[in-house]
Amino acid sequence: MTGEDPRKTGLKNGLRQLTTEQLWRVLNYKGEMVLDTFNYHEGNFCPLAVGIGLDLVLNDSSHDEVFQILTDLGYKVYNTRGIEGEFYTENRKDDLREAAREVILERVEKPSASVYHLTDDTGGGSAFCGNCNYSFGYNNHDLPEDCPKCQYKVQPSTVGLSPYPFGGSDF
Ligand SMILES: [Zn+2]
Repeated sequence: MTGEDPRKTGLKNGLRQLTTEQLWRVLNYKGEMVLDTFNYHEGNFCPLAVGIGLDLVLNDSSHDEVFQILTDLGYKVYNTRGIEGEFYTENRKDDLREAAREVILERVEKPSASVYHLTDDTGGGSAFCGNCNYSFGYNNHDLPEDCPKCQYKVQPSTVGLSPYPFGGSDF
């Protein structure tokens, strides 16, 4: 996404390491999480550790131990460290939740719209969104990925003739 705060991108890249189920675990977590430089501090775990369920298997731990486990498992930690920006500075808990929700949403399959093609009597015509009737214009070969009006995913393979009669013929 253009214009996204680089810290938000960094945080989301960190969260993208988790499965959707693990992200829900972070979102629904009732306990406190450590949201700064530590991976574990005074009984609380960082979101990555919560996501993979380390809090369930470790009663008492240390930053070093949790950091070691996460990196041994191949997770990339410190995804916002050293990155300039506003995001995830003042309201870390809210920002974390927002980023986690966005990562989940980007995985949700968008609804899709078929495309219909309305032909005029000169053999030309326009392609329209089957969901909202937005006109993609005359050029049928250059359809957008998503409908600019309703944001549905465009399915070019469903291009077909409209049920409407062909326009005014003099024959
Ligand atoms: Zn549409």
